[in-house]
Amino acid sequence: MRSRPSHHLDPHSEFVLDTHELGRRAGSMREVRRQLSAPPDWGLELVKVPPGSPVELDLRLESVMDGVLVSGTVTAPLSAECGRCLEPIRTELSAAIQELFSYQPDPEDEEASTLDGDLIDLAGLLRDAVLLALPLNPVCDEDCPGLCSGCGARLAEVGSEHRHDQIDLRWAALAGLTPPSTDPDDNGKTSPADVPGAADPKTQES
Ligand SMILES: [Zn+2]
Ligand SMILES: [Zn+2]
Repeated sequence: MRSRPSHHLDPHSEFVLDTHELGRRAGSMREVRRQLSAPPDWGLELVKVPPGSPVELDLRLESVMDGVLVSGTVTAPLSAECGRCLEPIRTELSAAIQELFSYQPDPEDEEASTLDGDLIDLAGLLRDAVLLALPLNPVCDEDCPGLCSGCGARLAEVGSEHRHDQIDLRWAALAGLTPPSTDPDDNGKTSPADVPGAADPKTQES
């Protein structure tokens, strides 16, 4: 239902194309370049087209038998966070779009896009294309080494020689401890009846 308007479209909206000049003679074609500002819902929490940022549309409208075929590209800035080192990423997203807007609603296809008079609503089409084109695992660099597991430093900045002696010290400290009971309800008193043949490690110590 995404492109079926429930009310009449606003011809002045950035997302609405008027096909009046194109006419309805099959074969006629028009190119449309337009800049608009990104709506607030083009993306996810960590990967998105920043709301209000400039979006470029480079479209081709073709009149065909049943309607108007819209094809072309949508290009927009993209902000994300590197999945390995959490560094902010600024890049660009470009998505291909193609959709037939029919003159008449198709009774057998509720989802089919239709024209509203001469008007085409691009909002749903563009949003779907942008969301599909979002990178799943954005990285600042294909070779990003991520973060140091010891201190959280960006390995790309601190270099591959970066090491921690503390890790070894910590392991040494842990190695000196007697393993405590892992069951909080147990209070260290394991009944020999529950664990046949196993003696309580606490009694063994003393
Ligand atoms: Zn990174
Ligand atoms: Zn470190």
